Amino acid sequence: MDRPLLNRRLAEFGTTIFAEMSALAVRTGSINLGQGFPDADGPEEVREAAVRALRDGRGNQYPPGPGIPELRTAVAAHQQRFYGRLGLSYDPDTEVLITAGATEALAASLLALLEPGDEVIALEPYYDSYAAGIALAGGRRVPVTLRADPESGSYRLDLDELRDAITDKTRLILLNTPHNPTGTVLSRDELAEIARLACERDLLVLTDEVYEHLVFEGEHLPLASFPGMRERTVTIGSAGKTFSFTGWKVGWVTATAELVSAVRSAKQFLTYVSAGPFQYAVAEALALPDSYFTELRDDLRTKRDILATGLTDAGFQVFRPSGTYFITTDIRPLGHDDGFAFCRTLPERAGVVAIPNAVFYDHKDQGAPYVRFAFCKRTDVLQEAADRLKRL
Ligand SMILES: *Cc1c(COP(=O)(O)O)cnc(C)c1O
Repeated sequence: MDRPLLNRRLAEFGTTIFAEMSALAVRTGSINLGQGFPDADGPEEVREAAVRALRDGRGNQYPPGPGIPELRTAVAAHQQRFYGRLGLSYDPDTEVLITAGATEALAASLLALLEPGDEVIALEPYYDSYAAGIALAGGRRVPVTLRADPESGSYRLDLDELRDAITDKTRLILLNTPHNPTGTVLSRDELAEIARLACERDLLVLTDEVYEHLVFEGEHLPLASFPGMRERTVTIGSAGKTFSFTGWKVGWVTATAELVSAVRSAKQFLTYVSAGPFQYAVAEALALPDSYFTELRDDLRTKRDILATGLTDAGFQVFRPSGTYFITTDIRPLGHDDGFAFCRTLPERAGVVAIPNAVFYDHKDQGAPYVRFAFCKRTDVLQEAADRLKRL
């Protein structure tokens, strides 16, 4: 067969770097700070809720297409509890859709809302499924690069660059705050300007807020709460990161009834439904008291600080994240400038696995000297990683 098996839309997306690096971690006995999943499961009572649902025969057969009413109600109540003060609330019957994780929510939204040739602006570096999702939908991605600012030790969005990236073909802005991999939490002013541009140019916004509860400095503001945004914003959340059950793949979309209905049209032919018993458990998880969310955040802030100190002591320049599971570092102070080469030899040299940020860029040169470490791991593991990195 002379025709390639993989279609042209997906040809540029080989196997992910995560598979290569995780295999390297196993082969070298390294601590894997590559992929962002916690090494301790979420709350016992939430696990028990899943077991109870399974035993009681709740969710073992196809749940309703939009998700079970208990979970849709819990998602709406969660939005009300945390963002009601900002004037944001959703009708559980028509404005909430349960998905197979944020990943399906993203794919279904892009497949539903894009026509071939539509341009999608995404903040670069971006989560790896964005590029593939846009490609599957026949869209064209237009990256706007978050710039590393060594002075402040953080990343900033250039609003002029964002404004200039919008054309007559732009359909949608794909946003992610708190931002993976840089740990940036977009500020009120930045979000207000994005909202203003979206309204002025009549754009839809798809906003990935899976790290909404992992903000260590500042606060998370949903873009949908800004003036004029509720009717044009699809907000994505997930139980994976908030409750440390990344294997359950329970996510959700909140948006107007019209947008939810559009996204559901695509979702029904991807998975139709998913995670029956887990939906019941996540409904209980979303009702956990405020203290659960505060403790999760405080615990991860401590972990961030342990790893940030270790990386600084080892000679990396550290961009201190305001949110998420990840720390981005600059390897140039260690005498390196190629993150790929660095990450391929790091396991042999220091027994730690990390991810080169270049994989999250279209402009590979922009990401070349940066490397990402995950800190959603037990403190003893992070301490051991910090000790090992001192060998460098
Ligand atoms: C982990 C992650 C996701 C995927 O979430 P799932 O619920 O596991 O599908 C989506 N977006 C970002 C930014 C992530 O880090």
